[in-house]
Amino acid sequence: MADTAPPFEGSRRRAAVSLPLIALAIGLALVAYLVPDARPPALGALALAALVGLIQRGARASRQRNAVKTDASSPLWPNASVKSVVDAMREPAFVLDRNLALRFSNAVGIQTFGNMALGDPIAMRFRAPELIAAMAESIESGEAQMTEYAERAPSERAWAVDILPMPMPGEARPVFFLALFRDRTQMRRLERIRTDFVANASHELRTPLASLSGFIETLKGPARDDPKARAQFLDIMQDQARRMSRLIDDLLSLSRIEMRRRLEANELTDLVSVMRVVAQQAAPTAAEKNLALELTGLEEGEALVNGDHDELVQVFGNLAENALKYGDAGGRIQIGLTRTDETVEAFVRDFGQGIPPEHVPRLTERFYRVEDGSGRVRGTGLGLSIVRNVLIRHNTRLSISSIPGQGSTFSVRFRLRVPGAFEKSQYKS
Ligand code: ADP
Repeated sequence: MADTAPPFEGSRRRAAVSLPLIALAIGLALVAYLVPDARPPALGALALAALVGLIQRGARASRQRNAVKTDASSPLWPNASVKSVVDAMREPAFVLDRNLALRFSNAVGIQTFGNMALGDPIAMRFRAPELIAAMAESIESGEAQMTEYAERAPSERAWAVDILPMPMPGEARPVFFLALFRDRTQMRRLERIRTDFVANASHELRTPLASLSGFIETLKGPARDDPKARAQFLDIMQDQARRMSRLIDDLLSLSRIEMRRRLEANELTDLVSVMRVVAQQAAPTAAEKNLALELTGLEEGEALVNGDHDELVQVFGNLAENALKYGDAGGRIQIGLTRTDETVEAFVRDFGQGIPPEHVPRLTERFYRVEDGSGRVRGTGLGLSIVRNVLIRHNTRLSISSIPGQGSTFSVRFRLRVPGAFEKSQYKS
């Protein structure tokens, strides 16, 4: 069905006075000029023609105004031009009338919120009093309003909504309104992560700090003259101070990694050398704890991958540290590589307590720790989060497999690189 003419086309300028009237006026003026005897009646007729012209012009303007009104109140409005502008918007947008009935929904609107019948009240789809109140307010005042709208199902989403009156020529008050939804889901999520992070970090630092203050009070008071208690308390205080400094180191590490999210595409690192450094660093603790440290797959020559040597040492160093800390009951630890034609998998395996399956998906969250029932806090809960972030930069991810009572394997798969391949492909014409 064809749309009615758009209001701005209805007001397109046409000759304000009809052509025969102009011709008549020119004729009369010529007669008055050339024939002196006929001048008075010719001038009289000219004045009459001018009057008719003015009346015609007024009538046309009023017709145009009425045309706009009819057009705007037509059930077919918005017209094709308005629809195409609203449809071109990348965010959900709806045209509403003064009764808050839906007149048009753009494609993104339908895709995001589902199909709504034209003419239905918008409140049938958006059951949010605040949103409807903002729309009503815009209609009442004729001014733009801004509000927020959120949905919990099927997933949590949040929008900033602008309600914008659509001014039209010839209409004193806006007849139509554009409700424009701008997606704020990601922004809200990041805000929540940031506030959670600050709350968690402060909590983690406050616990050892409170314990330090407590011991200082005791040492100044009741334990002042008790050398045995003093030595014991000082040991605990040293532990807490170390814990705080470890936390701060991990937090700094995490923020440094998050700032450098991109890795140079042509940076090559030998995973064999990475895993050897990790094993060297782990050896003293392994010996201290009487754990056998087994290296596997490191003797087959270099395994080049796209990556940063120091960051990969940090990744596998963290995994080895965890294996020594949480997997020591198994008596041995494996650090190694498994190759296929095109890939290499680097892994750290222990044969200790393992991890209950419900915790595995959450291990890389910041500050996430599995309670071991002893009530002792052993780590910062940031190690695996650092690992995860470094691996995102390396275009890969951490796989965790664990069987409670039998141990855990933390592994990362990389694509093998050929030295010089990148440079060659760069200059290939
Ligand atoms: P943390 O500093 O606490 O070690 P991580 O992020 O490195 O932080 O590890 C998160 C949690 O995962 C640890 O607190 C521990 O409960 C669990 N975990 C990590 N590695 C192992 C492992 N090899 N065996 C058993 N549990 C582990």
